[in-house]
Amino acid sequence: MAAVVQLEAIQKTYNSGEVPVHAVRGVSLSIQRGEFVALMGASGSGKSTLMNMLGCLDHPTSGRYLLDGIDASALDRNALADIRNQKLGFVFQGFNLLSRTTALENVELPMLYGGRHLTAREMRERALHSLEIVGLAERSDHFPNQLSGGQQQRVAIARALVNRPEVLLADEPTGNLDSKTSVEVMGVFQKLNDQGITIIMVTHELDIAQYCKRNLILRDGRLVSDVQVKDRLISATELAKLKTAEADARLTGN
Ligand code: ADP
Ligand code: MG
Repeated sequence: MAAVVQLEAIQKTYNSGEVPVHAVRGVSLSIQRGEFVALMGASGSGKSTLMNMLGCLDHPTSGRYLLDGIDASALDRNALADIRNQKLGFVFQGFNLLSRTTALENVELPMLYGGRHLTAREMRERALHSLEIVGLAERSDHFPNQLSGGQQQRVAIARALVNRPEVLLADEPTGNLDSKTSVEVMGVFQKLNDQGITIIMVTHELDIAQYCKRNLILRDGRLVSDVQVKDRLISATELAKLKTAEADARLTGN
């Protein structure tokens, strides 16, 4: 099986200060399609640096990164932007929704970039479908300040899905949420992962990592642990709720 993410001896050194900072020191790693990976490690261990490279936002200093078979380490800035748009979806700790814009319009945004040539109607339908997947279709005309934190993060997840990415990258997606809401959001990720999407997320929280399938730990820019999660936690309540929402939608024909 071809890996969707393959890192080969990735190093990243920042030379902006007086002394070089070796933020990532030789990480090699394969992630197959359908995996659900938590990336952990203390502050300063290189998680964000690694995620920036996985997200095609930055080049490694040395090493090779294959994303869905394409050598991203060899691409120029424009080509990186294209591959990012086609293959990746991003979810952030702070949701990053536009505040004067409805949930639906927020979700439509990524389709305005990347030259997809969709009609306004096609964009609207796809955005609505994304909102349906995260159980928020009925809130599509709400503004972010009319939504709870968990609902805002679900809108952000719908936005990340709308270009049908291969991989979802999430940097502390539950960092601003209380523990109950965090578990609900993990339920949304688990549902998406069950549907085949590959997810890589940074988290500080050990219990949240237990909802993923594989846990990686970075220390001082090196991968020091890589384990499959035993006795994985499942966000059953959230799954049941989403199933009910889908059943309701079918009954009412919406
Ligand atoms: P984490 O996300 O695990 O907290 P980071 O990847 O942000 O770790 O940082 C890893 C190391 O690289 C830290 O020592 C940090 O200070 C340094 N670093 C991160 N970004 C930069 C930058 N743009 N310029 C210089 N040093 C940086
Ligand atoms: Mg960080």
